[in-house]
Amino acid sequence: MSLEAFREETRAWLEENCPASMRTPMPADETPNPGRRAQFKNPDTKVWLDLMAEKGWTVPHWPTEYGGGGLSIDENAVLREEMARIKARTPLFGGMGTSMIGPALLEFGTEEQKKEHLPRICRGDIWWCQGYSEPNSGSDLASLQTKAVVDGDEYVINGQKIWTSGADNADWIFCLVRTDFDAPKHDGITFVLFDMDQPGVEVKPIKLISGLSPFCETYFTDARALRNNVVGEVNRGWTVAKRLLQYERTSIGGGMGGAGGGGLGKTLGHVALERYGEADGKVADSTLRDEISTHIMNDRAFGLTVRRNGEESRTTTAPTFASSMFKLYGTEQNKNRLELLMKILGTQMLGWEGDQFEEADLGQTRAWLRSKANSIEGGTSEVQYNIIAKRVLGLPD
Ligand SMILES: Cc1cc2nc3c(=O)[nH]c(=O)nc-3n(C[C@H](O)[C@H](O)[C@H](O)COP(=O)(O)OP(=O)(O)OC[C@H]3O[C@@H](n4cnc5c(N)ncnc54)[C@H](O)[C@@H]3O)c2cc1C
Repeated sequence: MSLEAFREETRAWLEENCPASMRTPMPADETPNPGRRAQFKNPDTKVWLDLMAEKGWTVPHWPTEYGGGGLSIDENAVLREEMARIKARTPLFGGMGTSMIGPALLEFGTEEQKKEHLPRICRGDIWWCQGYSEPNSGSDLASLQTKAVVDGDEYVINGQKIWTSGADNADWIFCLVRTDFDAPKHDGITFVLFDMDQPGVEVKPIKLISGLSPFCETYFTDARALRNNVVGEVNRGWTVAKRLLQYERTSIGGGMGGAGGGGLGKTLGHVALERYGEADGKVADSTLRDEISTHIMNDRAFGLTVRRNGEESRTTTAPTFASSMFKLYGTEQNKNRLELLMKILGTQMLGWEGDQFEEADLGQTRAWLRSKANSIEGGTSEVQYNIIAKRVLGLPD
């Protein structure tokens, strides 16, 4: 089918199937809590999710046999444009399922694993979390100590993970465990999947300055994982783990490009103009104007670089070590954006609660605090510098 024919068909399908209430911005209190414990405040959210999942369009670029839409890059771009045209909401908040474990399974999973796990991600049935970091293993991840021992068809797992994002809502975990304590540290690690809903798993949310608990301490006491849920080879999990980190870093870094206004649906320039605009259409404060222009130009250049890399990788297999550059730059750019927003909004951006603050601005205060973690999660900026030096630039140790 030609791209134009695909566009027409897509437009007609969306017009017919996208409920009217799904053509508005998503209010924070309607964001569904996906997975087994999903609750849909607005029933249309579920209708929309199911219709799109049936079509394979919650993860349009995945193969159809695993619940995706089998769309090409160009078709996928058309679908996004057509959804944007009618302001359709994202049907699935896929989280780590679509951006991390899904792509890793497509690359390393057995046929049985792909058939079991990928369609459930596409339908939003299962919410995943990432069991990598431990109290003494963050940047030096390969030193991890969570232990897995074979018992018949299963592994018995003991140990502790930390900073496990969303573990208190997660249904399944992809987890790094040590299966050989005698081998060099990178060679004794296995990558395994298991259900969080079992007696051997305990989750304790960690409360942050924002008042939220986005991540948890996760304890395993004789937790069980089926041996056929090992991804890749036993003791070779480091290979899968590193690859998944590339998917994660691409998603964190690339997802932060774009000269947005911090979730306000407006560019920084527009927000500044609203607050400090003058009749000639310029932001009055010339220093601020300069900083905003620089930010927008950097954003534009970064967006183009991410796009060029995407175009180049059409001929190769997905992400490379360049994902570290995107992670490094994208997260710094996001932090810079929120710092600039802070300059623009002034004391409005320091609000926490109360009628004197606009609700949208209160959201920005929390976003500003949250942004500080961007250069830590998914591997710190210093770790990205090390990878770029070694793997991209080929510098000696
Ligand atoms: C918001 C958020 C969400 C997260 N979600 C998850 C999750 O879902 N699952 C999960 O497993 N983990 C998660 N993490 C953990 C994250 O991966 C780690 O915090 C990160 O890898 C850093 O490890 P660490 O905190 O132990 O810091 P450390 O490794 O102790 O680092 C401390 C400091 O030393 C520096 N440093 C360490 N080693 C080097 C080196 N070789 N060269 C130069 N500098 C170095 C670091 O850059 C850092 O500044 C999350 C973290 C955050 C902030």
